[in-house]
Amino acid sequence: MAARILIGQIKHETNTFSRLPTTLESYGKRLLAYGEDMFRQLGGTRTEIGGYMEAAKANGWELIPTVAGDATPSGKVTAEAWAKLSGTIVEGLEKAGKVDGILLALHGAMVTETVDDGEGDLLKRLRQRVGLDVPIFATLDLHANVTDAMADNASALIAYRTYPHIDHVERATQAAELMRRALKGEIRPVSAVVRRATLDALDHGRTHADPRDAGPMDRVLAAAGALEGRDGVLSVSVHAGFQAADIHDTGPSVAVCADGNRAKAKAVAERMMDLVWDTRGQSTVAHSDLASAMAEAKQKGDKPLVIADFTDNPGGGGYGDATRLLGAMIEAKLDNAAFHSINDPEAVAIGQKAGKGATVTLALGGKVDPIFGAPLNVTGVVQNLTEGSFICDGPMHKGVRLNHGPTMVLKIGGIEVVVTSNRLQTIDRQAFLSQGIDPQAKSVVVVKSSQHFRAAFGPIARKVVLADGGALTSPDLKRFPYKNLRRPIWPLDPV
Ligand SMILES: [Zn+2]
Repeated sequence: MAARILIGQIKHETNTFSRLPTTLESYGKRLLAYGEDMFRQLGGTRTEIGGYMEAAKANGWELIPTVAGDATPSGKVTAEAWAKLSGTIVEGLEKAGKVDGILLALHGAMVTETVDDGEGDLLKRLRQRVGLDVPIFATLDLHANVTDAMADNASALIAYRTYPHIDHVERATQAAELMRRALKGEIRPVSAVVRRATLDALDHGRTHADPRDAGPMDRVLAAAGALEGRDGVLSVSVHAGFQAADIHDTGPSVAVCADGNRAKAKAVAERMMDLVWDTRGQSTVAHSDLASAMAEAKQKGDKPLVIADFTDNPGGGGYGDATRLLGAMIEAKLDNAAFHSINDPEAVAIGQKAGKGATVTLALGGKVDPIFGAPLNVTGVVQNLTEGSFICDGPMHKGVRLNHGPTMVLKIGGIEVVVTSNRLQTIDRQAFLSQGIDPQAKSVVVVKSSQHFRAAFGPIARKVVLADGGALTSPDLKRFPYKNLRRPIWPLDPV
């Protein structure tokens, strides 16, 4: 008889310093598919669920769908949204009767209004219902803040090994292979996680395609890979953590899954955390102030200069409407430049009312929290108006539909600004192409992203500059008013 595997996805990277709550509507804007609809939306995509579906086909498993949800990083997940999403998986399990295993796609840094550790809470509720003999495997983002509750209740946690994250399918395949072996009785996977008194390490998880650029994350991952599959070690999962979450366990960690031996898993994780601790101060990136970025932007070249507005990255909970970099570009009178994006539904509505080709004067951006740059008073031409939906065709999320909501391209002098209604990190060239802008033909291309943009925009850039506009996703950890974080902790305290 076919093995019956319950499957589900609830993802969120919660920036507890954001003032925007994460609601079911926030999920609806990105991904919220119940039951069989998750197969229709994610089958054949480069996602974990896409990977689990392939593995189920190869192994002849019956998949029992529950829910697949993802929302752009923002503030705490509301009690209502958490009850609905986690309840759908737990009730799905109760309704399914006996299952042979559970495969989940999680993020690992979810904080809700009711629990600081969303994933630990979900895994615990599932474990309580299935007992110790049913394997539960979960993939994680490498920016997970991994808790003891997560490691204790999962059979294994398998995090991405790439940042930009492009190995969703590979990690799902790895989890599914452990499931196959566990179902056959070949292995008895158990896990342990280890953290240290550090909030930061592993260069924020950055990995590099060229070994000459290797940083601490690349080296720790290489060491982790060398341990896997030997001497009872089944998987080694390395997490850089997500620093903008004010919970006790925030920060880097290593989770190890060993065959029937939790003490061994813990010992291996301790060894790996020694490496993480020793390299915690190493970084592979330099940040530019706005004046240096503008000086660079005035140089001409045969390919675009790609500037990342990395402190307003919606992918880390940034509001996506910070204006300092765009303001500097307008002041510098840049020509042949494209900017993705300013999140401002009010401005889009003004553009829609005026119509394509009209000249409008409006207050742009800076509306969620003007501390990160006041609204800009601009006059520009409404160059394009769209519904803002497109399918990614780059290395990250290939085949996945993203939705900016009603979108306007506003041309301000020589700068084409994409103005959106939904907040999204810039990860794919279609974010421009779908709006009629060819980023390869530009002298300057601005993206709101910290690192993911490199997968699609690195290959077309003559150079990449990380411009520091001082917004919410700034890497300066000393600015965050932590209350729940364990102390003392590096780099905030002497340790
Ligand atoms: Zn991540």
